[in-house]
Amino acid sequence: MAPIQKECDYLVIGGGSGGLASARRASGMYGAKAIAIENKRLGGTCVNVGCVPKKITWQAADIAEKIKESKAYGFSVSETAPFDWTMFKNKRDAYIRRLNGIYEKNLKNDKVEYMHGTASFVDGHTVKVVLDDQTEVSVKAKKILVAVGGRPNFPPVEGAELGISSDGFFELETQPKKVAVVGAGYIAVEMAGMFQALGTETHLFIRHDTFLRTFDPMVQEKVTAEYERQGIVIHKGSSQSKLEDIGNGQKRLHYKDSNGEGTMDIDTVLWAIGRAPELEKLNLSVTKVETNEKDHIIVDKYQNTNIPQIYALGDVCNQGYELTPVAIAAGRRLADRLFGGQPDAHLDYSNIPSVVFAHPEVGSIGMTEPDAREKYGDENIKVYTSSFTALYYSMMEPEDKGPTSYKLVCAGKEEKIVGLHILGLGSGEILQGFGVAIKMGATKADFDKCVAIHPTSAEELVTMK
Ligand code: FAD
Ligand code: NDP
Repeated sequence: MAPIQKECDYLVIGGGSGGLASARRASGMYGAKAIAIENKRLGGTCVNVGCVPKKITWQAADIAEKIKESKAYGFSVSETAPFDWTMFKNKRDAYIRRLNGIYEKNLKNDKVEYMHGTASFVDGHTVKVVLDDQTEVSVKAKKILVAVGGRPNFPPVEGAELGISSDGFFELETQPKKVAVVGAGYIAVEMAGMFQALGTETHLFIRHDTFLRTFDPMVQEKVTAEYERQGIVIHKGSSQSKLEDIGNGQKRLHYKDSNGEGTMDIDTVLWAIGRAPELEKLNLSVTKVETNEKDHIIVDKYQNTNIPQIYALGDVCNQGYELTPVAIAAGRRLADRLFGGQPDAHLDYSNIPSVVFAHPEVGSIGMTEPDAREKYGDENIKVYTSSFTALYYSMMEPEDKGPTSYKLVCAGKEEKIVGLHILGLGSGEILQGFGVAIKMGATKADFDKCVAIHPTSAEELVTMK
């Protein structure tokens, strides 16, 4: 049977953060005939196996910490308040399913045609979609957006497939008693922090002496030390050679760390060692769209690929930010440019704030101190730092107090703030407002002109000496 034929102005492959934002703006705001294709669940990584279920789990971990700490404030709460992982997981899943439905409704409201199926290129203008019932649809489009996101990497370690990735974290039906988390980036640090706070014995395997190594050295050192204080066992200078199934749901990890070789019996190994573009089923090569050595699609600041009618954005690209708001903003601006008569619309990729939902949260915008020194020269950089104990911890014993540390990296005579790095309670919420100021080009004097809000932690940022 000949495939069903369709035509449209804008075909969006990938129903995640960036794809949906772009399709909805193109159709809902500018009246383009848009079709969106998704082969898993609407909302993509962020909604289903990323930001949203992660932050909900982070909230649970935060509550667990607060329950523990509430004793210092006079509450007679058992330190071992039982946590029902299965109940929590089911409730979190139900919330995500509701979100999937809302996303579908939003597409309808904006008159985007939605097809659930897998897309692959036939040529530079045509995409074949295999729907769930195996029906084939051939879509000819004037413009095509590739927004297929990424997937977790597994290492070339024997038996690695016996472990899970961050996707598997959200499928765990029961709470593991003991886990090994391998990796040193956002996901490893966030998930190790959540496991530990919720009461799982947590081992974090990193290749070097600190984690979050793309962050300012202050963040690396303070948060690594804080994780050790909390009881996470950090295996530094580590590598893994084998993972084996030893029955009863247990795995044995063979590893090396700075103390030598060892094995460890655990419930779960979670690999969190980075992600790669999800290009497997796309048959991209027929389009001659260029990719880099890591398979990321090469785009310019307008999200143009080397093929005129094909665009790409989000995690599949080489732009260096794998963040939901980046994909959304790039998607909306692309629709503004292609269908909204705004020929220069594009995302400004400078000064993008981000937060690691570690324990405590870490916020960062702009350059690290070493990068700023390299760019401007030592003589043109002034750094302000403050490390203190947040008032929240005033009621706790010294060994129970978490850290708070802030750093401002300023450049030139006018002391323009080119980097801001914070860790401590509430950093995620604090950074958003300061991000606006830095995006506007704030100087140290501008910060100092703002009267402090007392007593808060953030007031330190406007009173630094
Ligand atoms: P995605 O959201 O991944 O969407 C791509 C979609 O394309 C997917 O749904 C996929 O199924 C679909 N697809 C792929 N191939 C095909 C095909 N051939 N046919 C049809 N459909 C296809 N970012 C933040 O800003 N804050 C956070 O707190 C945060 N936490 C995260 C936590 C985790 C555990 C992870 C993994 C990521 C997190 N991120 C976070 C990153 C964020 O989720 C991504 O940057 C974002 O989802 C990227 O959006 P995207 O549109 O590029 O791709
Ligand atoms: P990241 O790129 O953040 O970090 C992966 C790190 O793992 C590397 O930097 C490396 O650190 C380490 N690593 C790499 N290979 C190995 C290996 N074979 N063995 C051990 N360690 C290894 O990737 P993630 O998977 O953590 O996250 C992917 C992206 O998703 C993030 O970059 C981020 O953009 C996004 N995300 C955002 C979040 C947020 O905004 N809060 C939360 C979660 C994800 P080293 O060199 O030090 O060994």
